[in-house]
Amino acid sequence: MTQITSTVDFDATGKQIGWLRVPHSVTRSAYGVIPIPIAVLNNGDGPRILLTGGTHGDEYEGQVVLTRMIRQLRAEDIRGRLIVIPALNAPAAIAGTRVSPLDDGNLNRAFPGDPDGGPTWKIADYVHTHLVPMVDVVGDFHCGGASLAYRPHASTHFSPDSPAEVKERSLAAVKSLGLRHVMIFETAGMAGGMSCATRRHGKIYLNGEYGGTGSLTRDGIALVEGAVERLLAFFGATERRFDPLPPPQVLQIFGPRAYVYAPDAGVFVPATSLGDAAREGDLCGELLFPENPGRESIRVHFEGAGDVVCQRHPARVERGDCLAHLARPVA
Ligand SMILES: [Zn+2]
Repeated sequence: MTQITSTVDFDATGKQIGWLRVPHSVTRSAYGVIPIPIAVLNNGDGPRILLTGGTHGDEYEGQVVLTRMIRQLRAEDIRGRLIVIPALNAPAAIAGTRVSPLDDGNLNRAFPGDPDGGPTWKIADYVHTHLVPMVDVVGDFHCGGASLAYRPHASTHFSPDSPAEVKERSLAAVKSLGLRHVMIFETAGMAGGMSCATRRHGKIYLNGEYGGTGSLTRDGIALVEGAVERLLAFFGATERRFDPLPPPQVLQIFGPRAYVYAPDAGVFVPATSLGDAAREGDLCGELLFPENPGRESIRVHFEGAGDVVCQRHPARVERGDCLAHLARPVA
């Protein structure tokens, strides 16, 4: 049983802004809670949609767009139910960090969660057992965070055994979000973060990586604003109509060889830019050792072929840091 309580009535007509309260008893606050901001808008029959940002605290496009949405959107602007949570792992969002400072929890690695675990696992369990069952569609907005930069893409996750209509609707929806590139993840079992909850409950899950580097750009915000507006229209929550788009390129990550890792600690000098096409054996970059300039640099190569969709952001790396990853266009 979850220990999280809510100050909003998920069934009440109209717009409410309130809190999820995660119990957190510590020395400075014996009966304290962690408040997670939440808005619920209900306006009659219609699609039921959950939008989340701040699953990782150092990813800001979703946090910003959903915060604005809570202030601006009225219940009469939509049909159905809309639940909006701009800072889902609020302690991480406040700290500006990927993981929670309270329990080192990475929310998108904590699913299906644990009602008796640390705050991050309690939040994951609440999403899994309470929020996802209340909706038909989840839109969860990510980016590369402080350590990575992404060429923006929208994505969707389903299981090999998801119902055919869920797969078709997920593909049609992700292609409608206005991004030039989309990524498809067909994941079995409990892997895949929040999508383990949506796959378990047979719901549609849309997410994506809309930038990164722990900062914000006008382009990244505009992409998420557009994706949210198009998502609401696609499922019929709004009446908005959009000009048809050229079909986006569909890509997939082709396994562990898509990823390049630092073989040692040093300063990484990339040899490619986001969007470049890489062949197997192409140079990914070079590790230099300014603290030991007599040491020969290390050249790091791609082990597969594909587009460079993600790159390391801070130049200083430790052994094992991800330097880049590839994705391959689907025929
Ligand atoms: Zn993320």
